[in-house]
Amino acid sequence: MATCPRCKGHLTDGHRCPSRTGRLAIEIVAAALAGGIAAWLLLALFDPRGQATDMDVVTFVIGACVGVGINRALRA
Ligand SMILES: [Zn+2]
Repeated sequence: MATCPRCKGHLTDGHRCPSRTGRLAIEIVAAALAGGIAAWLLLALFDPRGQATDMDVVTFVIGACVGVGINRALRA
């Protein structure tokens, strides 16, 4: 099946591209969640006793920023 050159979706009859801002927001949120969770899991791996619990939020935010940055860089 052909793919839409704009949204990469299946180009069916009556295809309409999803709104770009909505799609972008979903991608950024997904990237942030993935990065945050990945960073948090890494912290848990390196700190199995959980002594750095105060770092959880900070680690998640940093990971989220990295995730979004990677996502933007790949899509630039
Ligand atoms: Zn489209």
